[in-house]
Amino acid sequence: MRSLVLIGHGSHLNGESAGAVFRYAELLRERGLYDEVIEGYWKEEPALRQVLRTTASTDVTVIPMFISEGYFTETVIPRELGLGHQGPVPPEGVARVLGGRTVRYTLPFGVHPGMTDVILARAREALPDASPEDTALIVLGHGTTRNENSHKVIYSNADRLRESGLFSEVHALFLDEDPRVGTWPDRVRAPRVVVVPFFASEGWHTLETIPEDMGLQGEVTRFPDNPHGPQTVYYARPVGTHPAVADVVLHLAEEARGAAGRDGDVERAHDSAWQALIHLARRGGRMGEVLITPHSGVYELRHALDEGMGGAELHTVVTPEGLRDVTRRDAAGNHRPVHTYRTLPRGWRAVLSETELRRGVHFLYPAVVEESYAHGCHSLRHTPWATTARRQTGIYTRVQRATQEQVERVARTVCTPCLRTRLWAGEKLPRTFLEGVPGAFPCAEACTYFVAEVRETLISKRPAAGQEG
Ligand code: SF4
Repeated sequence: MRSLVLIGHGSHLNGESAGAVFRYAELLRERGLYDEVIEGYWKEEPALRQVLRTTASTDVTVIPMFISEGYFTETVIPRELGLGHQGPVPPEGVARVLGGRTVRYTLPFGVHPGMTDVILARAREALPDASPEDTALIVLGHGTTRNENSHKVIYSNADRLRESGLFSEVHALFLDEDPRVGTWPDRVRAPRVVVVPFFASEGWHTLETIPEDMGLQGEVTRFPDNPHGPQTVYYARPVGTHPAVADVVLHLAEEARGAAGRDGDVERAHDSAWQALIHLARRGGRMGEVLITPHSGVYELRHALDEGMGGAELHTVVTPEGLRDVTRRDAAGNHRPVHTYRTLPRGWRAVLSETELRRGVHFLYPAVVEESYAHGCHSLRHTPWATTARRQTGIYTRVQRATQEQVERVARTVCTPCLRTRLWAGEKLPRTFLEGVPGAFPCAEACTYFVAEVRETLISKRPAAGQEG
């Protein structure tokens, strides 16, 4: 048995931010090469601190779904996963045994040499008859003067594509460092120019900054008066959203496993936790705001306040992904970065098989089953606020200065709507939902939303609100 974990950034504010990782996880599940594909996030749930506990096997490969190496892939993710590694990740990745699981952490997908083919695929979509006689290629990166790794990947891809001889010229240009994208008319001589943004997703840069800096009007833009004569620019979509990235991820995962030999086993604590959930589901019961009812071999989940409503009155979903999508926003359409907030929307029902139930509940309340079971077994370790604060880096370092009174003030606002009980602050939770108290979930450590709110309070000197740090 083996598990693949895809790590994305996510967002406390924007529900779309996790979309690309969801899509890749779905593509990889369809390929069926791993027994499970799990998503984990920095700013959503399951959080990086929780995600390994949610994997079902003792053989886990973790892929950072980032376009280049940098602060997140070298500092934040290894630290939060507890890998005991900081700094550049070697080409063969980092392997550790953590809590009985063998965990392999790889380089981000963007630096894999297979991305050269993805650039080529994007270029061909934009200009199918690109030719070495009259077509130049611009590989466009973000760049930053703070981390040279960020441009290394652009130059190495440009070198490989130059060597391929498929284009008359290949240029590496950047938004935030030299050579800047705005200088392209002076550098590029060919009459046809394909521009491929080496970005993880469609967003502000690909939709606004790049077109503005290059003077683009759309997918095809003509420039009749450029210094080297008339030119036409074909603007491709970003590499990070191409389906072939799924192949790159699989290559990366297989290379990290190397000659690992046989697959892992079922992780016993994880298995026991889900057996406890199945036991609850088979007799029917509540988990947080959700009512689980068995119906001849399948399970129906709905908001407990919708109990008694006819099926026709509710929107029915029949897949774990469908359940994920109807519960990611509250009734007002706002993103729910903390899934255990009592803001679950009403008006839906999910009908899932026993196999799908695990994934559905995982989407609904990530890591809650595993943490509740561990709490019941006295094996859930609590992390006090001072430890969480000390671990923070970058813009979050300042939370170390928060006083106890400030932390408690944030908790009164941020944690009150949450079903979880703050064990990290000394609160007691004698029994969880698995022992018959539906709304009782443990919180072993302050979540990233809480940390961001403490920082926001320190910056703005205001009580917590919903601002992303
Ligand atoms: Fe909920 Fe507060 Fe724990 Fe975050 S820190 S999960 S808001 S109880």
